[in-house]
Amino acid sequence: MDCLFCKIAAGEIPSQKVYEDEDVLAFSDISPVAPLHVLIIPKKHIESLAALSDDDSLLASKMLFCARDIAREKGFAEDGYRVVTNCGARAGQSVKHIHLHLLAGRDFEWPPG
Ligand code: 5GP
Ligand code: ZN
Repeated sequence: MDCLFCKIAAGEIPSQKVYEDEDVLAFSDISPVAPLHVLIIPKKHIESLAALSDDDSLLASKMLFCARDIAREKGFAEDGYRVVTNCGARAGQSVKHIHLHLLAGRDFEWPPG
């Protein structure tokens, strides 16, 4: 399958890894919008949150806890951080392999743009 994040998960395209286990990979975003900008992906291809199945509940929670743990390790747990997933065209999803954006190190506005 011609998927950028599957290639990153397989190591075919290099990335700056932050965390890896058998199910998930976290790596730095190539064009960061915050001092900390990490992408958390499942190694298995799932197109978006909309395509997540009930059988993926453990995987989904692993992704979320991965974001929590990285934020904690990098020292942002107290100040706060943002975890976002863009799902589909209207949300601006550009890579069709589900990912969480972990953003930290500056103030974030609400509502988002
Ligand atoms: P989306 O717009 O789908 O929510 O987020 C996709 C993210 O992937 C963007 O923040 C973009 O900067 C990042 N990205 C796109 N191509 C690459 C790449 O080749 N390597 C890395 N590390 N990040 C990428
Ligand atoms: Zn993929």
